[in-house]
Amino acid sequence: MKSPLEILQQYFGYDNFRLEQANAVENVIAKKDTFVLMPTGGGKSLCYQVPALALDGTAIVISPLIALMKDQVDALRVNGIPAAYINSSMSSFEQNETLHQLKNSQLKLLYVAPEKLSSENGAFLQILKQVQISLFAVDEAHCVSHWGHDFRPDYLFLNGIKHQFPDVPIIASTASADEITRKDIIKQLNLQNPLVLVSSFDRANIKYFVQPKQAVLQNIIQYLNEHPDDSGIIYCLSRRGTEDMSDKLLENGINAAYYHAGLSSTERAKVQEDFLKDKTRVMVATIAFGMGIDKSNVRFVMHADLPKNIESYYQETGRAGRDGLPSEAILFYSYADVIKLKRFAMIEGNEDQSDLMLRKLQQMADFAEMQKCRRQYLMEYFGEKHAGNCNACDFCLSEFEILDATIDTQKLLSAIFRLKERYGKNLIIDFIRGSKGVKITDYMRSLPTYGVGNNHDKTYWQNLIRQLLINGFLDESNEEFSVLKLNDESRQILFKGKKVEFKKVKEHAKAVVVEEIETDYSTPDFDSNQDLFSELRTLRREIAERENVPPYVIFSDATLLELSTYLPHTKEELNEISGFGAFKIEKYGEIFLPLIIDFCRKNNLNSKISEKKRKRQREPKKATNNTSGTFATTFDMYKKNLSVEEIAKMRNLSVNTIQNHLVKFVESGEIEAAELMDVSKIEPIIEIAKKQIIPSLKAIKEELGDDFSYFEVHIALAYDKSMQ
Ligand code: ADP
Ligand code: ZN
Repeated sequence: MKSPLEILQQYFGYDNFRLEQANAVENVIAKKDTFVLMPTGGGKSLCYQVPALALDGTAIVISPLIALMKDQVDALRVNGIPAAYINSSMSSFEQNETLHQLKNSQLKLLYVAPEKLSSENGAFLQILKQVQISLFAVDEAHCVSHWGHDFRPDYLFLNGIKHQFPDVPIIASTASADEITRKDIIKQLNLQNPLVLVSSFDRANIKYFVQPKQAVLQNIIQYLNEHPDDSGIIYCLSRRGTEDMSDKLLENGINAAYYHAGLSSTERAKVQEDFLKDKTRVMVATIAFGMGIDKSNVRFVMHADLPKNIESYYQETGRAGRDGLPSEAILFYSYADVIKLKRFAMIEGNEDQSDLMLRKLQQMADFAEMQKCRRQYLMEYFGEKHAGNCNACDFCLSEFEILDATIDTQKLLSAIFRLKERYGKNLIIDFIRGSKGVKITDYMRSLPTYGVGNNHDKTYWQNLIRQLLINGFLDESNEEFSVLKLNDESRQILFKGKKVEFKKVKEHAKAVVVEEIETDYSTPDFDSNQDLFSELRTLRREIAERENVPPYVIFSDATLLELSTYLPHTKEELNEISGFGAFKIEKYGEIFLPLIIDFCRKNNLNSKISEKKRKRQREPKKATNNTSGTFATTFDMYKKNLSVEEIAKMRNLSVNTIQNHLVKFVESGEIEAAELMDVSKIEPIIEIAKKQIIPSLKAIKEELGDDFSYFEVHIALAYDKSMQ
């Protein structure tokens, strides 16, 4: 029997398993029940596809979405794996054809819609009883639970499977994170002592940006012009909004279309298909669009209007970058949207539900307004720890100055205190600014804090109050007329001299390509050949057209990027490219290679495949704190045998930054210095370092001369530290 890793490499052309894939695969092959929780794009499918190939018999995959089923089956067939699907959209002739293949053990995987299992008085189940089943995979398993956000009654029937097929392992997978749903799935599916595998929900390749909702159209057009090859989705709240936006984009020469629930189902199918097949570049849509969109090269997801809650926001932005390449999520935010959405959130006669919706809306607004790493906010929202400083959100990429707001805060809190915590923000602001309005009584005017804040305008005070509330320095009661109240933090500021400092944005990072701050040394850059990349994309589209499948089913953008970076010249060299399994090398190798060779000849280039270093896996010695965020991402990619240059390229960061990340892991002993440099150079570097009074990279490097690079000096010092 082939090992799982051999199957992964041979059929799918990937070097390593991701996240918890290896554990899931191993457990299923051992015929044990498994429960996999991974974010969208994490790679759930391979968790059952690899075991399906390792085990005898046919794997039955239960999947709720017909469109997805077809995509998955196409993708498997393109890799030379016998797979099929069966659902109600097929004629009975087609269905019989597939059943025939099943009975003759010609299929490694069969995708079925859940209703198929319960229909025709269990006739289909009877057929399954007569053939050898390797495993059951339940995709989108949250559909079985009432607690999930997408319950489907047809899924309930699945709880009988375990009784009917006690010896066949079940693997359930979902991206739905919450605890109650998780437990309920295990119960509903009758999983026996399942291995539960939870992967981080962090989508490291997505950068998060929030921008003020101003000049939205111009901003979007500029973005699209700056990223001419990128395709993506723009979400709008209303149907009308999608039509307007799409029209304006078309007027500006951008290939766009709109999608909403008001279109007929034929129109919807056509618009969606054009987008999947890269015929439409920008899809402007309401939230009706997206369920079952598996397109892997969605490079950006924008929200022209505010989503209702973090769950929706995360799910929608999660449609970007399934191929693992750098992608962007951009939210255009204004408080006016919050007010607008509040009206929708009120459900008459259902106070509990309204409260919940309003709270979720508030959390969405907080996300946009809070001065905090966006990724950290999201991860914590989903119950995961994150240290912040992700270096890939507008907050982490912006430049700030510190603003001391202690005195103004004290003035404000003192006003609230003097007025006995009985008023809302409008009156407090009027009072502090010395308003002559009727609501300010003579008594109020006699108080010493009256008018102490007239050095700032109303907006300034409104903002300050909002910031204080968000950061917990002040409370607001939840009555009909909300009243500002002091809390322990306020009292610390007012009576104990606690400081209040806010970061004020000096330069706000925008969703256009952000230049990185260079350190004092530089290393050569690594190029992918843009022109070749576009030629490869055109070729991919032609093949896809011919085979009548979406282009990403043939190859992902990540694979094309590797081709245009490493310029393989032979089939052996193609073997090193991620996404080129044995079958695809045979099928497509001779179509792609001439294009690359021709390009190299014209541009005087050679194959760079030897630069794609391999085999660097070693076990870590001790764990670092760098287990999340940008460091962890670099580490993961490094462990997947990607070179520094490749990681830099894929993450859209400079080589320096990646080197700095790796140095941290040398320091912690998780990466050996020998993997990154000639170890005989370490000794001399450390000797010189020790002689210096204040060792600095620069001084050491100057003394060593040109035979040593900054990176080497850096590693040697880190190595020395790791030994202490
Ligand atoms: P999910 O179902 O969890 O949303 P998919 O199974 O569709 O994710 O996988 C997302 C993408 O990641 C696919 O393009 C898939 O081919 C790719 N992928 C999955 N596992 C790996 C791996 N181990 N190495 C490289 N690419 C992978
Ligand atoms: Zn961040």
